[in-house]
Amino acid sequence: MEKDLIQLIDYAILHNLMPKENIDQAILLLSKAMHMDSFSYEKIEELDDIENVLARLLDAAGEKNLIQKISIDERDAFEAKLFDCVMPSPVEVKENFSKLYQNQPSKATNYLYNLSKDVNYIKTKRLEKNIHWVYTGTYGNLELTINLSKPEKNPREIALLKNKVIEQELGKPLCVICKENEQNYYNARMNLRIVPIILGSEKWHLQYSPYLYYPEHSIILHDMHRPMKIGHQTFIYLLDFIDLFPTYFIGSNADLPIVGGSILNHDHFQGGKHHFPIEFAKEIRDFGKVSNVHVSHLFWPLSTIRLKSDNRDDLYNLAIKFLDQWKAYQNEELDILSNTNGVSHQTITPILRKREDFYEMDIILRNNRTSDLHPDGIFHPHEEVHHIKKENIGLIEAMGLAILPGRLKTELQQIEDYLKNKIDFPDSLDKHKEWIQKIKNSGNKSINQQYLLEEVAKIFEKVIEHSGVFKLDKKGMHAMHQFILSVTKNTSAV
Ligand SMILES: [Zn+2]
Repeated sequence: MEKDLIQLIDYAILHNLMPKENIDQAILLLSKAMHMDSFSYEKIEELDDIENVLARLLDAAGEKNLIQKISIDERDAFEAKLFDCVMPSPVEVKENFSKLYQNQPSKATNYLYNLSKDVNYIKTKRLEKNIHWVYTGTYGNLELTINLSKPEKNPREIALLKNKVIEQELGKPLCVICKENEQNYYNARMNLRIVPIILGSEKWHLQYSPYLYYPEHSIILHDMHRPMKIGHQTFIYLLDFIDLFPTYFIGSNADLPIVGGSILNHDHFQGGKHHFPIEFAKEIRDFGKVSNVHVSHLFWPLSTIRLKSDNRDDLYNLAIKFLDQWKAYQNEELDILSNTNGVSHQTITPILRKREDFYEMDIILRNNRTSDLHPDGIFHPHEEVHHIKKENIGLIEAMGLAILPGRLKTELQQIEDYLKNKIDFPDSLDKHKEWIQKIKNSGNKSINQQYLLEEVAKIFEKVIEHSGVFKLDKKGMHAMHQFILSVTKNTSAV
């Protein structure tokens, strides 16, 4: 075990997580974590892969009953604790980030990003297992990912969890993104580091997402545990962020159930260094310049207005008009009702990026009303596509990147085997029955995984079409253009 702990220290020095001068301190912390006597450091010439080193250390912790050896959650939490012994403290990371930022913002973000990867907060090895593909369809390219990075719990582990006494609540943060998660054993966050930033004269924090759905996937969380709210101030936060980190995009989930993300109780944004499909969407109609802001309607399944300006105040002034007027908009014929008994249905999913000297904002119009026909949501994936996706269409998917559940990998393999007459129809494929029949009826002989991934992508295209409030047919487009003109005309007259 000593040898593996020394290897962990060597790894930390090699990746600049700690200076050589801190070896004694690291030994102290690591031996305490492992409930063992101190040990002496001797340089090891040939380093093993860090994943192997960690696996052996976690097994050893299991032998000592420090953790349940088979529990992935407990292994992750303990691994994070080991890294915490050999990495800079939260205060040091904040100082380093701030110093680097003075020099160049991207140096600071690179520092935090690489640190998060080096200490396995972002589990790069697990993420490599994800299946990622691009589909070229009606709206240009769409991106899709089958997320396999969250390892599935085995039945023994599930049984273990069931019998587990409710965890001590002490020190447990109010939610998974609260700032109190930093260096917290709960939820495997001992190796999490976050940095403060100021948006709209308020304190926020920046961190990277452990799930890394795209490069430099970051989470920007408010200092306080307060609910998501899209309002005028949202645009100020977004603009301030882009001024701080001009190479990143930033976007917000909607602030209502059904059309929002999975976390509505803590105000946050997502950002990062990725160019999503929506960025490349064509324009259906160009409305020209309105008060120094270029306005257009995008050819995108979710109803999207693009605003472009080199002046942030002009962009802000028009954006708040679109938000306010959308909240009050009604169109019974198209099923768009702004509220039920005063409870609002309407909100937006806003995205901001910098393109050369211009701020480019995409405002996606959302409505979360349900009906007898569509009890899960009228502008939400309809039942016919639930076998692929039934969860909320949040920011990331609205921008054209599908995050699909890991179970799909096994199911697609079973579908291929069934269609090739290798197996009988398994019960687990019941939800895909109609879809499989359709593929069968198509008479296509060359059914392989590539073909099935294309078919999945076609369904995702439908998923996002269902989420659009103004459909891209004659009626829908006419109504959308009337809506845009109602906002821009008022503005021009002022
Ligand atoms: Zn919170």
